[in-house]
Amino acid sequence: MSSIEKIKALAERQNALVLAHYYQSLDVQACADKVGDSFALAKYAKDTDAEIIILCGVRFMAESAKILSPGKTVYLPAPLAGCPMADMVTPDDVLLLRAEHPDAAVVCYVNSSAAVKAVSDVCCTSGSAVKIVNRTSERDIIFVPDRNLGGYVAEQCPDKNIILFAGYCPTHHKISEQDIVNAKAACPGASALVHPECRAEVRKHADYLGSTAGIIRRAEDLYAAGTRDFLIGTEIGVLQILQRDLPDANVRSIGSAFTCPNMKKTGPDDILACLNGEREPIVLDAEESRRARLTLEKMVEIGG
Ligand code: SF4
Repeated sequence: MSSIEKIKALAERQNALVLAHYYQSLDVQACADKVGDSFALAKYAKDTDAEIIILCGVRFMAESAKILSPGKTVYLPAPLAGCPMADMVTPDDVLLLRAEHPDAAVVCYVNSSAAVKAVSDVCCTSGSAVKIVNRTSERDIIFVPDRNLGGYVAEQCPDKNIILFAGYCPTHHKISEQDIVNAKAACPGASALVHPECRAEVRKHADYLGSTAGIIRRAEDLYAAGTRDFLIGTEIGVLQILQRDLPDANVRSIGSAFTCPNMKKTGPDDILACLNGEREPIVLDAEESRRARLTLEKMVEIGG
Protein backbone atom coordinates (compact mmCIF):
# COMPACT_ATOMS: atom_id res chain seq x y z
CA MET A 1 0.00 0.00 0.00
CA SER A 2 1.32 3.50 -0.80
CA SER A 3 1.44 6.20 1.88
CA ILE A 4 -1.54 7.91 0.27
CA GLU A 5 -3.59 4.72 0.33
CA LYS A 6 -2.67 4.07 3.97
CA ILE A 7 -3.59 7.65 4.91
CA LYS A 8 -6.93 7.51 3.08
CA ALA A 9 -7.85 4.15 4.65
CA LEU A 10 -6.88 5.15 8.20
CA ALA A 11 -8.51 8.58 7.88
CA GLU A 12 -11.78 7.08 6.72
CA ARG A 13 -11.78 4.54 9.57
CA GLN A 14 -11.13 7.29 12.15
CA ASN A 15 -13.44 9.94 10.63
CA ALA A 16 -10.37 12.16 10.15
CA LEU A 17 -9.90 14.92 7.62
CA VAL A 18 -6.51 15.82 6.15
CA LEU A 19 -6.13 19.48 5.18
CA ALA A 20 -3.08 20.99 3.48
CA HIS A 21 -2.00 24.57 2.91
CA TYR A 22 -1.03 25.64 -0.61
CA TYR A 23 2.60 25.97 0.50
CA GLN A 24 2.87 22.29 1.46
CA SER A 25 4.81 19.99 -0.86
CA LEU A 26 2.83 18.44 -3.70
CA ASP A 27 3.36 15.03 -2.00
CA VAL A 28 1.53 16.25 1.08
CA GLN A 29 -1.16 18.02 -0.97
CA ALA A 30 -1.80 14.70 -2.74
CA CYS A 31 -2.67 13.14 0.64
CA ALA A 32 -5.16 15.87 1.55
CA ASP A 33 -8.94 15.97 1.33
CA LYS A 34 -8.74 19.71 0.81
CA VAL A 35 -5.99 22.18 -0.13
CA GLY A 36 -6.44 25.85 0.66
CA ASP A 37 -5.21 28.89 2.53
CA SER A 38 -5.12 29.06 6.27
CA PHE A 39 -8.45 30.58 7.29
CA ALA A 40 -10.36 28.74 4.54
CA LEU A 41 -8.98 25.46 5.93
CA ALA A 42 -9.99 26.38 9.50
CA LYS A 43 -13.53 27.20 8.30
CA TYR A 44 -13.67 24.00 6.27
CA ALA A 45 -12.63 22.03 9.38
CA LYS A 46 -15.39 23.67 11.39
CA ASP A 47 -18.09 22.95 8.81
CA THR A 48 -17.25 19.26 8.39
CA ASP A 49 -18.51 16.44 10.60
CA ALA A 50 -15.02 14.92 10.84
CA GLU A 51 -13.97 14.44 14.46
CA ILE A 52 -10.22 14.58 13.79
CA ILE A 53 -8.51 17.33 11.80
CA ILE A 54 -4.95 16.88 10.56
CA LEU A 55 -3.78 20.28 9.44
CA CYS A 56 -0.63 20.18 7.31
CA GLY A 57 0.78 23.67 7.68
CA VAL A 58 2.34 25.64 10.51
CA ARG A 59 1.29 26.00 14.14
CA PHE A 60 -0.92 29.09 13.91
CA MET A 61 -3.01 27.34 11.23
CA ALA A 62 -3.66 24.32 13.44
CA GLU A 63 -4.44 26.71 16.30
CA SER A 64 -6.99 28.55 14.15
CA ALA A 65 -8.68 25.25 13.32
CA LYS A 66 -8.78 24.36 17.03
CA ILE A 67 -10.12 27.81 17.94
CA LEU A 68 -13.03 27.41 15.52
CA SER A 69 -13.58 23.72 16.36
CA PRO A 70 -12.87 23.37 20.10
CA GLY A 71 -14.65 20.02 20.28
CA LYS A 72 -12.54 18.41 17.57
CA THR A 73 -9.13 16.80 17.89
CA VAL A 74 -6.69 18.85 15.81
CA TYR A 75 -3.19 17.73 14.90
CA LEU A 76 -0.22 19.60 13.49
CA PRO A 77 1.66 16.73 11.81
CA ALA A 78 5.13 18.38 12.05
CA PRO A 79 5.12 19.68 15.64
CA LEU A 80 8.13 21.97 15.06
CA ALA A 81 6.59 23.72 12.04
CA GLY A 82 6.18 27.24 13.36
CA CYS A 83 5.83 30.57 11.61
CA PRO A 84 8.72 32.99 12.30
CA MET A 85 6.47 35.97 11.52
CA ALA A 86 3.77 34.83 13.96
CA ASP A 87 6.48 34.35 16.59
CA MET A 88 7.73 37.93 16.15
CA VAL A 89 4.81 39.41 18.10
CA THR A 90 3.76 38.53 21.66
CA PRO A 91 0.61 39.44 23.60
CA ASP A 92 2.75 41.81 25.72
CA ASP A 93 3.82 43.65 22.54
CA VAL A 94 0.17 44.17 21.66
CA LEU A 95 -0.75 45.29 25.17
CA LEU A 96 2.14 47.78 25.14
CA LEU A 97 0.96 49.23 21.83
CA ARG A 98 -2.57 49.45 23.20
CA ALA A 99 -1.28 51.43 26.18
CA GLU A 100 0.59 53.79 23.83
CA HIS A 101 -2.42 54.21 21.51
CA PRO A 102 -5.52 53.92 23.72
CA ASP A 103 -7.92 55.02 20.94
CA ALA A 104 -6.67 52.49 18.40
CA ALA A 105 -8.23 49.18 17.39
CA VAL A 106 -5.93 46.17 17.05
CA VAL A 107 -6.23 44.33 13.73
CA CYS A 108 -4.21 41.14 13.67
CA TYR A 109 -3.34 39.11 10.64
CA VAL A 110 -4.48 35.48 10.97
CA ASN A 111 -0.77 34.60 10.75
CA SER A 112 -0.46 35.08 14.50
CA SER A 113 -0.66 32.92 17.61
CA ALA A 114 -3.90 32.20 19.47
CA ALA A 115 -2.49 34.26 22.36
CA VAL A 116 -2.05 37.34 20.11
CA LYS A 117 -5.48 36.91 18.55
CA ALA A 118 -6.91 36.79 22.10
CA VAL A 119 -5.67 40.33 22.85
CA SER A 120 -6.67 41.80 19.48
CA ASP A 121 -10.01 43.27 18.37
CA VAL A 122 -10.42 41.70 14.96
CA CYS A 123 -8.49 39.39 12.65
CA CYS A 124 -7.93 39.74 8.92
CA THR A 125 -6.57 37.61 6.12
CA SER A 126 -4.29 38.95 3.40
CA GLY A 127 -7.33 38.97 1.12
CA SER A 128 -9.61 40.79 3.56
CA ALA A 129 -7.16 43.13 5.36
CA VAL A 130 -8.10 46.27 3.39
CA LYS A 131 -11.82 45.65 3.80
CA ILE A 132 -11.53 44.87 7.52
CA VAL A 133 -9.49 48.01 8.23
CA ASN A 134 -11.85 50.18 6.18
CA ARG A 135 -14.84 48.76 8.05
CA THR A 136 -13.30 49.20 11.51
CA SER A 137 -14.77 52.35 13.06
CA GLU A 138 -11.56 53.56 14.75
CA ARG A 139 -9.31 55.81 12.68
CA ASP A 140 -6.15 54.59 14.44
CA ILE A 141 -5.34 50.97 13.68
CA ILE A 142 -2.56 48.94 15.29
CA PHE A 143 -1.70 46.34 12.66
CA VAL A 144 0.23 43.22 13.74
CA PRO A 145 2.47 41.45 12.97
CA ASP A 146 3.32 41.98 9.27
CA ARG A 147 4.72 45.42 8.43
CA ASN A 148 4.56 44.62 4.70
CA LEU A 149 0.89 43.65 4.64
CA GLY A 150 0.24 46.55 7.05
CA GLY A 151 2.08 48.91 4.70
CA TYR A 152 -0.06 47.70 1.81
CA VAL A 153 -3.19 48.31 3.91
CA ALA A 154 -1.94 51.83 4.74
CA GLU A 155 -1.53 52.56 1.00
CA GLN A 156 -5.07 51.36 0.31
CA CYS A 157 -6.71 53.04 3.33
CA PRO A 158 -5.47 56.66 3.25
CA ASP A 159 -8.12 57.79 5.75
CA LYS A 160 -6.73 55.51 8.43
CA ASN A 161 -3.69 55.98 10.63
CA ILE A 162 -1.97 52.60 10.53
CA ILE A 163 0.45 51.91 13.37
CA LEU A 164 2.77 49.20 12.08
CA PHE A 165 4.47 46.48 14.05
CA ALA A 166 7.96 45.51 12.86
CA GLY A 167 7.23 41.84 11.96
CA TYR A 168 7.66 40.34 8.54
CA CYS A 169 7.56 37.00 6.74
CA PRO A 170 11.21 36.04 6.14
CA THR A 171 10.23 34.10 3.02
CA HIS A 172 8.42 36.98 1.30
CA HIS A 173 10.54 39.79 2.77
CA LYS A 174 13.80 38.49 1.32
CA ILE A 175 12.59 39.01 -2.25
CA SER A 176 14.17 42.23 -3.51
CA GLU A 177 13.13 44.84 -6.05
CA GLN A 178 16.02 43.66 -8.22
CA ASP A 179 14.57 40.12 -8.17
CA ILE A 180 11.27 41.23 -9.68
CA VAL A 181 12.92 43.69 -12.08
CA ASN A 182 15.20 40.89 -13.33
CA ALA A 183 12.28 38.42 -13.59
CA LYS A 184 10.25 40.93 -15.64
CA ALA A 185 13.18 41.67 -17.90
CA ALA A 186 13.68 37.95 -18.52
CA CYS A 187 10.02 37.42 -19.34
CA PRO A 188 8.63 40.64 -20.89
CA GLY A 189 4.84 40.83 -20.96
CA ALA A 190 4.37 38.23 -18.21
CA SER A 191 1.72 38.91 -15.57
CA ALA A 192 3.37 39.44 -12.19
CA LEU A 193 1.10 38.14 -9.42
CA VAL A 194 2.46 39.10 -6.01
CA HIS A 195 1.53 38.52 -2.37
CA PRO A 196 1.23 41.65 -0.19
CA GLU A 197 3.63 40.10 2.35
CA CYS A 198 6.34 41.26 -0.09
CA ARG A 199 8.06 44.62 0.42
CA ALA A 200 6.61 47.84 -1.03
CA GLU A 201 9.41 48.13 -3.61
CA VAL A 202 8.48 44.66 -4.90
CA ARG A 203 4.71 45.25 -4.73
CA LYS A 204 4.96 48.35 -6.91
CA HIS A 205 6.02 46.19 -9.88
CA ALA A 206 3.07 43.79 -9.51
CA ASP A 207 0.24 43.51 -12.01
CA TYR A 208 -1.91 41.93 -9.32
CA LEU A 209 -1.63 41.90 -5.52
CA GLY A 210 -3.59 39.35 -3.56
CA SER A 211 -3.76 36.43 -1.21
CA THR A 212 -2.43 32.98 -2.07
CA ALA A 213 -5.90 31.82 -3.14
CA GLY A 214 -6.36 35.13 -4.99
CA ILE A 215 -3.12 34.62 -6.95
CA ILE A 216 -4.18 31.12 -7.99
CA ARG A 217 -7.64 32.34 -9.03
CA ARG A 218 -6.22 35.29 -10.96
CA ALA A 219 -3.71 33.04 -12.79
CA GLU A 220 -6.49 30.62 -13.72
CA ASP A 221 -8.69 33.47 -14.98
CA LEU A 222 -5.88 35.02 -17.01
CA TYR A 223 -4.98 31.61 -18.40
CA ALA A 224 -8.59 31.05 -19.48
CA ALA A 225 -8.41 34.44 -21.24
CA GLY A 226 -5.23 33.44 -23.12
CA THR A 227 -2.33 34.60 -20.91
CA ARG A 228 0.53 32.09 -20.88
CA ASP A 229 3.41 33.91 -19.11
CA PHE A 230 3.26 34.32 -15.34
CA LEU A 231 5.66 35.56 -12.67
CA ILE A 232 4.65 34.34 -9.23
CA GLY A 233 5.50 36.45 -6.20
CA THR A 234 4.76 34.05 -3.40
CA GLU A 235 5.93 30.73 -1.94
CA ILE A 236 7.11 28.03 -4.33
CA GLY A 237 4.16 25.76 -3.49
CA VAL A 238 1.89 28.07 -5.50
CA LEU A 239 4.32 28.04 -8.42
CA GLN A 240 4.28 24.23 -8.39
CA ILE A 241 0.47 24.11 -8.30
CA LEU A 242 0.22 26.45 -11.29
CA GLN A 243 2.94 24.62 -13.24
CA ARG A 244 0.99 21.40 -12.67
CA ASP A 245 -2.47 22.83 -13.47
CA LEU A 246 -1.64 25.19 -16.35
CA PRO A 247 0.40 22.74 -18.46
CA ASP A 248 1.35 24.84 -21.50
CA ALA A 249 1.90 28.03 -19.49
CA ASN A 250 5.28 29.53 -18.67
CA VAL A 251 5.10 29.95 -14.88
CA ARG A 252 8.20 31.28 -13.14
CA SER A 253 9.04 32.54 -9.67
CA ILE A 254 10.20 36.13 -9.11
CA GLY A 255 12.82 34.83 -6.64
CA SER A 256 15.24 31.95 -6.84
CA ALA A 257 14.68 30.60 -3.31
CA PHE A 258 11.07 31.44 -2.54
CA THR A 259 10.59 28.58 -0.09
CA CYS A 260 9.19 28.61 3.44
CA PRO A 261 11.31 26.03 5.32
CA ASN A 262 8.64 25.54 7.97
CA MET A 263 6.00 24.70 5.39
CA LYS A 264 8.28 21.96 4.06
CA LYS A 265 8.73 20.22 7.42
CA THR A 266 5.68 18.02 6.89
CA GLY A 267 5.82 14.77 4.93
CA PRO A 268 3.27 11.99 4.38
CA ASP A 269 4.89 10.03 7.26
CA ASP A 270 3.95 12.83 9.64
CA ILE A 271 0.30 12.51 8.60
CA LEU A 272 0.52 8.76 9.21
CA ALA A 273 2.07 9.46 12.62
CA CYS A 274 -1.06 11.46 13.58
CA LEU A 275 -3.32 8.64 12.45
CA ASN A 276 -1.21 6.10 14.35
CA GLY A 277 -1.49 8.05 17.62
CA GLU A 278 2.15 9.19 17.56
CA ARG A 279 1.45 12.93 17.76
CA GLU A 280 -0.01 15.11 20.51
CA PRO A 281 -3.13 17.08 19.59
CA ILE A 282 -3.25 20.87 19.81
CA VAL A 283 -4.32 22.06 23.27
CA LEU A 284 -5.26 25.71 23.88
CA ASP A 285 -6.10 27.57 27.06
CA ALA A 286 -9.93 27.68 27.11
CA GLU A 287 -10.28 31.39 27.90
CA GLU A 288 -7.57 32.40 25.41
CA SER A 289 -9.26 30.28 22.77
CA ARG A 290 -12.68 31.83 23.51
CA ARG A 291 -11.28 35.35 23.13
CA ALA A 292 -9.34 34.44 19.99
CA ARG A 293 -12.55 33.00 18.52
CA LEU A 294 -14.28 36.37 19.06
CA THR A 295 -11.64 38.13 16.92
CA LEU A 296 -12.05 35.55 14.14
CA GLU A 297 -15.86 35.78 14.34
CA LYS A 298 -15.66 39.58 14.24
CA MET A 299 -13.67 39.32 11.00
CA VAL A 300 -16.39 37.16 9.46
CA GLU A 301 -19.13 39.44 10.84
CA ILE A 302 -17.65 42.58 9.24
CA GLY A 303 -16.97 40.90 5.97
CA GLY A 304 -13.59 39.21 6.05
S1 SF4 B 1 5.46 31.72 4.37
FE1 SF4 B 1 5.95 33.28 5.89
S2 SF4 B 1 4.00 33.75 6.92
FE2 SF4 B 1 3.77 31.76 5.83
S3 SF4 B 1 4.32 30.23 7.38
FE3 SF4 B 1 6.19 30.67 6.22
S4 SF4 B 1 7.20 32.27 7.46
FE4 SF4 B 1 5.06 32.18 8.15
